[in-house]
Amino acid sequence: MTAARPATYDVIVIGAGAAGMMCAAQAGRRDRRVLLIEHYPIIGEKIRISGGGRCNFTNLHCDATNFLSQNPDFCRSALARYSPRDFIALVERYGIAWHEKKLGQLFCDDSALQIIAMLRAECESAAVDWRVPCAVEKIDRKSGAFIVSTSGAAVRATSLVVATGGLTVPKIGATPLGYRIAEQFGVGVVAPRPALVPLALEPATLERYGDLSGVSIDAEVSCNEGRFRENLLFTHRGLSGPAILQASSYWNGGDLLHIDLLPGLDASAWLASEKSASASVAGLLAQRLPHRFAQQWSVEYGSGQQATGPVRSLSERRLCEIGAALNDWSVLPSGTLGFNKAEVTLGGVDTRHLSSKTMAVESVPGLYFIGEVVDVTGHLGGHNFQWAWSSGFAAGQVA
Ligand SMILES: Cc1cc2nc3c(=O)[nH]c(=O)nc-3n(C[C@H](O)[C@H](O)[C@H](O)COP(=O)(O)OP(=O)(O)OC[C@H]3O[C@@H](n4cnc5c(N)ncnc54)[C@H](O)[C@@H]3O)c2cc1C
Repeated sequence: MTAARPATYDVIVIGAGAAGMMCAAQAGRRDRRVLLIEHYPIIGEKIRISGGGRCNFTNLHCDATNFLSQNPDFCRSALARYSPRDFIALVERYGIAWHEKKLGQLFCDDSALQIIAMLRAECESAAVDWRVPCAVEKIDRKSGAFIVSTSGAAVRATSLVVATGGLTVPKIGATPLGYRIAEQFGVGVVAPRPALVPLALEPATLERYGDLSGVSIDAEVSCNEGRFRENLLFTHRGLSGPAILQASSYWNGGDLLHIDLLPGLDASAWLASEKSASASVAGLLAQRLPHRFAQQWSVEYGSGQQATGPVRSLSERRLCEIGAALNDWSVLPSGTLGFNKAEVTLGGVDTRHLSSKTMAVESVPGLYFIGEVVDVTGHLGGHNFQWAWSSGFAAGQVA
């Protein structure tokens, strides 16, 4: 008895997330027979939990400067061919109401589920077939085609698009399959690590600041070449909030964070102008920073034992040092909170092996990588979804 021949498609897409659904719908519109395989029982889970349930689906100001990659120019072509305006037009065609929250970040007025329903409808109108849930067991390449063995029947196609995302939040479906496929076909992978992730503090630092959990400060946080002015949030394990999440993508273990607690203000000049004040340093700081933080920070950095003494008892030099520390509070995180708490994965499939126009692997005809599995990682604020749409669109035009 001969084994049943695998069902044949033109394109198999692995991963029914943002990039995979966009790509499948685009390829289907070109009358390609497309199969979308998803191992998790529900499609688009990351979309559902994104943006606090409202999906920050793009950013009006999205361009290559919003991405980290070993090749920072790689994303340019795809972003230019499918821009935030194109995705907004799609969202509007489906009557999904949206708003700009801040800094060009666009969210659904109602629910992220609308974006999932839209992508599903796009796939259905392009006659995409689904296998959900369906585990991929093995991939072989024979006579120019990919044979994908699954928990169901095997399937075959001349184009294989890998859209398995990064490693964040494994409990809703993340796996390293995409990296394994890359390795199988001789494609390099830049070591993945968590990004847009809260940072932990050492127990000694936590002892001082840990009970400020929930307190937030408008700060400018710098780390290596990343510099972000947004809120910094104290948590019971360390630091979070948009400014920290952004800076975390630039943090390599052991790097200091430089935190300007009074951005836009020359703190030394300000303290000098208050040098005859009878208030304590903590009292002065509490005019500009949350009271409890001002207290704790002043004990550590401000004036030691003199935190409660009047500013006028401090020398000009000491005030200048305190001012400098306010504009550059150096903090050494002890680590990140890992993939369970990260929004994205830094690193991934090395772009040197891919065409920036089509996402095709140059050495393996018919193989494509799109979305977060690729070494292209966006800043917070809708850029990661825009990369998923743009790279998915690019591959969908040719796969
Ligand atoms: C909590 C949270 C909030 C976020 N909020 C935002 C936001 O508001 N705006 C923004 O731009 N970005 C946001 N992101 C990031 C964004 O969700 C991702 O960058 C984006 O989903 C990447 O799209 P993707 O299609 O490449 O991967 P994913 O959307 O992760 O899709 C990958 C798919 O592949 C499937 N898969 C994985 N392994 C296998 C396998 N072995 N076999 C078959 N299928 C597999 C997964 O189950 C998943 O469905 C957020 C992320 C998190 C974790």
